[in-house]
Amino acid sequence: MYFVVVMKYVIVTGGVLSGLGKGITASSIGVLMKSVGLRVTSIKIDPYLNSDAGTMSPFEHGEVFVLDDGGEVDLDLGNYERFLDVSLTKDHNITTGKVYSSVIERERRGDYLGKTVQVIPHITDEIQDWIERVSTIPTDGGNESPDACVIELGGTVGDIESSPFIEALRQFQFRVGRQNVCFVHVSLVPVMGPVGEQKTKPTQHTVKELRGLGITPDLIVCRSKEPLQQEIKQKLAAFCHVEPRAVISAHDVSNLYQIPISFEKQGVRAMIADCIGLGMSGDDKYLEDWRNMADRVDEFQEEVRIAMVGKYTGLSDSYLSVIKALQHSSIAVNRRLVIDWIESTDLDSSIKHTDGDAHRKAWETLKLADGILVPGGFGNRGVEGKIEAARYARESRVPYLGICLGLQIATIEFCRNELGLRGANSEEFVDNPDSLENKAVVFMPEISKTHMGGTMRLGAKVTPFVIEDCKIKRLYGNPSEVSERHRHRYEVNPELIEEIEAKGMIYVGKDETGQRCEIMELKDHPYYVGTQYHPEFKSRPGRPSPPFLGLLKAAVGEVL
Ligand code: GLN
Repeated sequence: MYFVVVMKYVIVTGGVLSGLGKGITASSIGVLMKSVGLRVTSIKIDPYLNSDAGTMSPFEHGEVFVLDDGGEVDLDLGNYERFLDVSLTKDHNITTGKVYSSVIERERRGDYLGKTVQVIPHITDEIQDWIERVSTIPTDGGNESPDACVIELGGTVGDIESSPFIEALRQFQFRVGRQNVCFVHVSLVPVMGPVGEQKTKPTQHTVKELRGLGITPDLIVCRSKEPLQQEIKQKLAAFCHVEPRAVISAHDVSNLYQIPISFEKQGVRAMIADCIGLGMSGDDKYLEDWRNMADRVDEFQEEVRIAMVGKYTGLSDSYLSVIKALQHSSIAVNRRLVIDWIESTDLDSSIKHTDGDAHRKAWETLKLADGILVPGGFGNRGVEGKIEAARYARESRVPYLGICLGLQIATIEFCRNELGLRGANSEEFVDNPDSLENKAVVFMPEISKTHMGGTMRLGAKVTPFVIEDCKIKRLYGNPSEVSERHRHRYEVNPELIEEIEAKGMIYVGKDETGQRCEIMELKDHPYYVGTQYHPEFKSRPGRPSPPFLGLLKAAVGEVL
């Protein structure tokens, strides 16, 4: 254990390509630092101009992760929350948009006293002030400030967008003391030619570029398919101005939990400790637990198949936290998780399919699933297919979990087919909401109709249970209320609640007003649950989210 008096920083940059797994590298380093008893937090820098990720398409940029405080942020913050078991704030995601807004606001206030406001020093100072301020916010649920902060800079070194951040980080090492900062650069070692030679040139170039900008990496993490050969490490060390032991192989592993373990085997923990003056080794119980979890994941033979009915464009990152939450729960039921992705438009029986085979296959896959999940979503594409999936799950008694949109879908289906409300729908999915006769789901009155950014019902809210006993309440451990994160504009029509409940679809959790439906559970069904919130954001390895755990338990045949 260490007593840390000054904040220590690990700064992770990347080169060659995006998508090398900088976030996972940074979180894995965070895990190693936690294992020596440090209180670790993290900051993600995204050099784009958007203020936050809330207005960005998940199909372009991956899922929008939602924080307790309602921040809509980059999905890497989800990796940090899961790996480090922390709760971050919107200020832990710095974007160019936020930094410039803040500087411009101060300029308008007159804070710069007549000076010309410039990228250097005003933007770069703002970035450094921001990092110093945010890194001290307690994030582990207690009141104490963290000891160490892992900072990840998005994008690749050399991008025009990221240059003010690189410059700020270069200056930062002098502001807080070089002995308190460890620079980690993540690069790629591709394999070329018939003999499969590991190529070092891209890494040489990116390190040269980084050093040209005034940052000398202490550690170079190389993504590669196979482990880096010893002579390749030697060569990279020679060309990149680091010791050979500071060249780390980040080769493909069987599952992500193995990465901190693989880093530890290569001495990363000791090297970082040396670099920031913390001595060596620590409490290995923590890492031992990781290792056990990582190994267990590889051992499961028996499968559990979950059908995810959504909109797909090939980017599974759009549902990253849902996938993680399913994985956490599948570990808890000792099964190997198989996710069957079903494009919801393929299920829609009301349209003529140009590819009839896709329609047939989609239904075959759905019917083979042990459980069905309809995740969150926006817009009307694919909605009818989801409604059919919800009906099938309800009537065939297949375990179902509907998240946010998935709860709304289940409600629409129930209104149409059990209450006989013809054409029941959500105001979101029709061109003219005013003429919609049976409104199962309506626009929430407090939501802005003119501004899209940051205006949804967002973040952690308390949901009291309004009934004594039900499956989902038991899964949560029988609390009187739960706190989960939200991101939506529409809700179940309060005027229909009584009618719906009379037929057996019960809203077992409602907000404090008792009007807004939050958790739905169908009577007399093995597991048919919907949540207006997104439970996936608070699922953790070893602490799976209860609604997901319920789905998985029911999917493997456990009676709940
Ligand atoms: N589109 C729906 C709404 O805004 C559902 C949102 C979601 O699934 N996150 O209410």
